[in-house]
Amino acid sequence: MKRRQHRPSFALNPNRLGHFGPYGGRFVPETLISALDELTQAYRKLKRNRSFQLELAEYLSAYAGRPTPLYEARNLSARVGQEVRIFLKREDLCHTGAHKINNTIGQALLAQYLGKKRIIAETGAGQHGVAAATAARLFNLTCDVYMGVEDMKRQSLNVYKMELLGARVLPVHSGSKTLKDATNEAIRDWVTNVETTHYLLGSVVGPHPYPMMVRDFQSVIGREARKQIREQFRSSVDVLMACVGGGSNAIGLFYPFLRDPVRLIGVEAAGLGLSTGRHAASLAKGSVGVLHGMRSLVLQDEDGQIRLAHSISAGLDYPSVGPEHAYLKKTGRAQYISATDRDAIRGFHLLTKLEGIMPALEPAHVIGILPALAQRFRRGAKIIVCLSGRGDKDLDIVRRATHSGDATT
Ligand SMILES: *Cc1c(COP(=O)(O)O)cnc(C)c1O
Repeated sequence: MKRRQHRPSFALNPNRLGHFGPYGGRFVPETLISALDELTQAYRKLKRNRSFQLELAEYLSAYAGRPTPLYEARNLSARVGQEVRIFLKREDLCHTGAHKINNTIGQALLAQYLGKKRIIAETGAGQHGVAAATAARLFNLTCDVYMGVEDMKRQSLNVYKMELLGARVLPVHSGSKTLKDATNEAIRDWVTNVETTHYLLGSVVGPHPYPMMVRDFQSVIGREARKQIREQFRSSVDVLMACVGGGSNAIGLFYPFLRDPVRLIGVEAAGLGLSTGRHAASLAKGSVGVLHGMRSLVLQDEDGQIRLAHSISAGLDYPSVGPEHAYLKKTGRAQYISATDRDAIRGFHLLTKLEGIMPALEPAHVIGILPALAQRFRRGAKIIVCLSGRGDKDLDIVRRATHSGDATT
């Protein structure tokens, strides 16, 4: 990884039909096409609308707690060695504990501008559901959240939080009773209620314009980080790293740096190991397919049946990935590697012990592989890691994994 790679050309935006090269697009029932057209046009206008952008910036700062700090993790850097300097973009300090609020505030405000009184969302672990229900309160919108009954059992605290926030949690009994089935139900609801309802998607996935729009809302992460590394540290940056589930925190960090001479590395969940079949590494192991209204890389069998993804972190447990990541991989602009459940547990303990910061298990994947990876960076490399969320939600899992003898240091 020491040599500067040849960098092929790539586009900064999808084409008019929402294609990032061969990926993206819209694969939805006919009835949704006009709704997606309407959303695309409204979004394009609001992107240039000063009062919308000012209002958004104000909510992000006064309500969500932005800008989040860029923190130089000296203890972690010393441990990693090679004189690297590691900077953490502290999305864990956002209201509700992760980057997801950047997107839900953006889309809920957009729903308000569109005159839609109701939002619907899908959720797996419940983190997006909670962030959506929170934004719904802020803008006084009705909120229904689809959630597989399996996930509801596993994440009862988040179900309770959503209910406290006045959202209705609608149980999904079909299929594997998890996130992908909840997403199907949300799309079905939207088809029926598109006049009154905005579908608030939680990551850079789904039909155009969602991957582009959610990316733009999350790009506040990278815009801030780019300014902070220059102004606060008077430094350049060599490497950006982030975990990739659907891919929204990663693209949010990467996007404002796409034209800079910076190496971009996304980290997928390798679960129990890439060779076990029990992972969520759709960029490494997926093939081209259609899921949830987009063409992307998908974990599927030879018949095109979607495989169950596995990761210790619910946020990375998705059998596909945003089309822009598939595109950045294809063009060579970004690289994608993977980290196992054990790496994530190790990363959790490492950051907790060295810095007093308990990371969510999703970004703990990145932390866990940094020591091994740093050998491959040039000496003194400057690395920004997106710390996408805090670890409180994962403490039960950490406790169980640690007691059952999985790696602690
Ligand atoms: C949901 C979540 C993720 C994964 O989602 P992306 O769209 O890939 O960012 C990562 N980290 C945390 C803390 C999450 O809650």
